[in-house]
This record gives sequence, structure tokens and C-alpha cells, in this order.
Amino acid sequence: MNKKVAFYTLGCKLNYSETSSIGRLFSNAGYDTVEFSNTPDVFVINTCSVTENADKKCKKIVKEALKISPNAYVTIVGCYAQLKPQEIAEIPGVDMVLGAAEKFQIIDHINDLTKKPKAVVYNQPVSEANEFVPAYSFGDRTRTFLKVQDGCDYSCTFCTIPLARGSSRSDTIENVIKQANQIAASGVKEIVLTGVNLGDFGIRNGQREDKFFDLVKALDEVEGIDRIRISSIEPNLLTDEIIAFVAVSKRFVPHFHIPLQSGSDKILSLMRRRYKRDLYVNRVEKIKELMPHCCIGVDVIVGFPGETREDFIDTYNFLNDLNVSYLHVFTYSERENTLASEMKGVVPGSTRADRSKMLHILSDKKRRAFYESQLGKTEEVLFEAETKEGIMHGYTRNYVKVKTKYDPILVNELKKVLLTNISPDGDVEITESEEILVH
Ligand code: SF4
Repeated sequence: MNKKVAFYTLGCKLNYSETSSIGRLFSNAGYDTVEFSNTPDVFVINTCSVTENADKKCKKIVKEALKISPNAYVTIVGCYAQLKPQEIAEIPGVDMVLGAAEKFQIIDHINDLTKKPKAVVYNQPVSEANEFVPAYSFGDRTRTFLKVQDGCDYSCTFCTIPLARGSSRSDTIENVIKQANQIAASGVKEIVLTGVNLGDFGIRNGQREDKFFDLVKALDEVEGIDRIRISSIEPNLLTDEIIAFVAVSKRFVPHFHIPLQSGSDKILSLMRRRYKRDLYVNRVEKIKELMPHCCIGVDVIVGFPGETREDFIDTYNFLNDLNVSYLHVFTYSERENTLASEMKGVVPGSTRADRSKMLHILSDKKRRAFYESQLGKTEEVLFEAETKEGIMHGYTRNYVKVKTKYDPILVNELKKVLLTNISPDGDVEITESEEILVH
């Protein structure tokens, strides 16, 4: 009988795509992938350094894993494993810790699966993690996260990602297209392009060889993929040519997620972001001029050191006036080995929480206003497989979340529907529909 492996992923889309690829390495080595609760022989936990209480979460998952399979071999990979390998090695029950350069050699490192009295650690300095390893996720077959870029050469003062993932590096356009074709052939309808700093795509062996825009143009020609979504792009890298191309593209959808982080120029400079807020306004205006229906999501951090009440109000008003559709609000928390963690003007925890709450309320208001602006339109929805209490969800091209009664025939299908009203839980309901679009 084949050995069984189960995965647990914390963190971002990149981690999800990498867990899937590690899963394929196990399949090729003859393992069966099973649910976490299905008494696996091996657990792989892919960690994140951005996650709040990463250490506690990791400990908890290991504990749960060993309750299910007391003799299972437990391996920890991911950003947190790169940053704090020894700390993780101390967690009771962990057998192996793999750093950023080693995680894709997991099969070579796993030998006899016997539990170790003390975890073995394979963790080179992150400067050694300079090879690009392609990855893409497979979830419910509706949407795939395709990793095209890794690492980051920026040095935002709050961020540990460059320490955990190394410098910016990318796949070749040729290889991305090859993978996109494979994904298309498997019946997946939407690709979400992912990377740590996606707009910086094109660096190989420390040299710039391509631009993100070249990749966008090439991917637009891939037959068989209905939608391509850009997961997140820095405002200073979202050029006019990219916006103009997406506006007329066959496959790129009208949805951008653009990190802002603060609406105060003072805080942006303390964060060492590479733009001022005027540039952000300019990007939003350009997008809306060419695509008035475009969905725009914003990352914002509250409680950064030095953020006074006035600075926060500045950010609040800035966002309130900005024509964007939703916010992803992060509460600042100190990370070891970052410049921000040593800065003066620490904002008390309760103030951070209050500011977060205010921006969450603002986000709900923005989302609702955006959804309301879309009511009465007939839009193409891609329905997902997941169903809860007889309800299924899907997304329009411009990221309006719709819900309807579960109908198995709709799973992973594109269908034109009329967006009719907003339900009490905030999703858009549909009451009328046309033919399923068969591709
Ligand atoms: S752009 Fe800044 S926040 Fe984003 S990964 Fe790079 S250093 Fe971190």
C-alpha cells in the first residue's frame, strides 16, 4: 500500500501554489495525498512568517497532527521555517525543518520516515535560495494559482519576506506559457498569476531579461484559459501600458489588487515604499478612466510606528475619497530583524485595533457601493465547487461575489447572469440567467 501524505498551508497564494507543487513531488514518488484527518504517514506544514502568532499556530497544527497519527513524520517548510528553523526544531514531534532553498528537495531529504528524537534541519542562508522553482496549485479545478515570480529586492521596513524568500527571480515566459497550456488542458478556467512582487517579473540570475508586460501579452494568447487575474501588483509597477492592455484584453479580467499600505506620505516614506500617494491616485484614475467597472482592492496597514491620529485620519480620508472597491486591512505587528520594529512612535495595541475596525467598516461600505454600482448588469460568473447549506458561490470577471442555490451542473461553468440585489450577508444574488457558456 502507498504511503499517505497530508498538507497544511498557512499564508498567501504563493504558499498554496507551492504546497500543490510539493504535493505533486510526493505523488510522483508514489505517495497518496489524503485529508489531514485520514491518518497520514507524513505531514507537511507550509508556514508563513506574516501570519500572526506563526509559532503558536505551527505548534497547534503539529499537536493536532500527532493526535491523528502519533507516529507520522512531521516536516515543516515555508517562510517561517526559513526565518526561525531552530525555534521550529524545538517543537515536540517535529522531525524535519526545510528552508527556502531545500523545500522542493523534500523527497530527497525524507528517508526512512522513522520519528527523530530531535528534528533535523536543512536550512541554508536565504542568499542560496536563488533558483526559481515553478509551482501551481490545484484546488477545486475552477481556479489555479500560478507562481511566476519569487522573492523581492525591495526593502520595505516592515517586511520579512526578502529575508524568508530571498531576492527577486522569475520563471521564463516560455515556461509560464507551457504551464498555462497544461493548466488549460486540465479544464481549469481561471489562472491567478502570483508572485511576491509580481510586477517585478523578469529577473533571472540577477539580470532583468523580461518585463511583466511581456508576460501579460504572451499569456493573453493562451487558448483554453478563459480568465487570467493578476493577484497583486505594486502601484509603481502598474504601468499605463499594462492598464491599457488589460482594458482590451481577451483574458485578463478587470480586477487589480494594489498595495497602498498608507495614505500618509510621511508613513509611506517611513515604510520605504517606492511611491507617494499621488501616484496611487493617478493609477486608480487611469484604471477607472479606461475600465469604469474595474474592481480595485487595496492593502493597507494600520498602526505602523509613527502613525499619529492625524496620519491615520489622513489615510482614512484618502481611502474614503478614492474610487476603490474593497480594502485588505492589516494591523501592524513587530517582526524581528526589521527596521520598523526599532522605530519610535509605537502605536498602542488598542489604538491599532480601533483603527483596524474603522477601516474594516470603510471597506464594507466601499464593497457595498461597488456591488450596488454593478446591479442590473448581466455578467459572466464562474461558479465554484464548494457548497455550504445548499448555496454555491462564484465570481464575475470584476470580482463581484455572487451566490445562488447549489446546482451541480453549474460547478466550474461560466454563465451569464443578471445581478439583481445584495443579500443581507453582502453577496450579490442573481435571479435570472441565460445559457451556460460552453468553451
Ligand atoms: S514590496 Fe515590500 S512589502 Fe512587498 S514583499 Fe517586497 S519588501 Fe515586502
